[in-house]
Amino acid sequence: MKNNMDSTSKTVYLDHAATTFTDTEVLEKMLPYFTEKFANPSSPYNIAHVSRDAIDRARKQVADAINAEINEIYFTSGGTESDNWAIKGVAFANRKKSNHIITSAIEHHAVLHTCQWLEKQGFEVTYLPVDKFGQVRIEDVKKAIREDTILISVMLANNEIGTIQPISEIGRIAREKGIYFHTDAVQGIGQIPLDVEGLNVDLLSLSSHKFYGPKGVGALYIKKGTRIDSYSHGGAQEKKKRAGTENVPGIVGLGAAIEQATSQLEEHATHMKNLRTRLLEGLLQIPATHLAGHPEKRLPNNANVIFEYIEGESILLMLNSFSIAASTGSACTSASLEPSHVLIACGFPHEIAHGSLRLTLGKENTEEDVDYLLQTLEPIIKRLRAMSPMTPKELRE
Ligand code: PLP
Repeated sequence: MKNNMDSTSKTVYLDHAATTFTDTEVLEKMLPYFTEKFANPSSPYNIAHVSRDAIDRARKQVADAINAEINEIYFTSGGTESDNWAIKGVAFANRKKSNHIITSAIEHHAVLHTCQWLEKQGFEVTYLPVDKFGQVRIEDVKKAIREDTILISVMLANNEIGTIQPISEIGRIAREKGIYFHTDAVQGIGQIPLDVEGLNVDLLSLSSHKFYGPKGVGALYIKKGTRIDSYSHGGAQEKKKRAGTENVPGIVGLGAAIEQATSQLEEHATHMKNLRTRLLEGLLQIPATHLAGHPEKRLPNNANVIFEYIEGESILLMLNSFSIAASTGSACTSASLEPSHVLIACGFPHEIAHGSLRLTLGKENTEEDVDYLLQTLEPIIKRLRAMSPMTPKELRE
């Protein structure tokens, strides 16, 4: 498989949930749209039609990948914008009728902070709890629904722990009650098959840089008939719903990447699962280590483990000194070290949640990468535990 990673670089990149490189074939398709095919798609001359046609082609590629209709796909600047638009757009367009939104406690901040902002505008939001694997319970969804519920927004798969939600069932309930249903599928595209019909969703967010496309471009699926406000006002682009000159090279890249990701889905998932099994077998042999997320219903490329008595941040720094790029749930801000809201919602105590390590595999990873990580990590964990005052005696030896 082609990739653009510098072959001389020794970095073992295990952070694909954060972003992926842009695939070489995808990049090649984008390049002409920066130079000779540069025209504004809204202009009236022939070369502008080239840009317009490229956007139309990409819209079809996205629609085909998720079983939608072409006119149900709107291009955005990425997952954050798609989430903001879906939630605010539906909330304000239906405000006269209803005022209540349901989401989950483990959403990405693009959803959580949007909902918190809407609360300041007078909307009411219910944040659904999750079980210890990070799954929303259908019973809780049913209980949360009110007469004035406008929208339910539950992510397809979590970016930290990889847990996949029962989207199709939630969607069925929402549809029976006449409530709009949005899913943030940013982490799901290219990992698991997606079909907006089967999922019973009215809105679905996706972002190109999570599946080997360029950054700064995404899409929102809006089922036809959905009442939603425009995201931006200005020109007539995106059927007047999202004004602004289109990011043509980005859109071309998104289209090419989603087509490639969908055609390679099975092969990719098998590769990811094989590597992940090897990875988890090694990781879980380390004492006082826990798997976070669902043991089966999880994205094939996600391994999230928690090491007791140590901090994820310290693990990352040490891995970095061995040229391994990974991630942790803890976000070190200037004033405080906050544990992940996802791990806390799953019921991990604060002191344990701090020790999380998220490893997300990608198509360029090999068994050698996994073995290198395992060989490097074990002594790091031992060393950090030896330094930690929390570590019990038996784990210090
Ligand atoms: N939603 C989820 C689940 C994500 O993982 C991310 C990015 O990490 C986003 C939304 C935001 O996407 P973008 O970076 O394209 O704005």
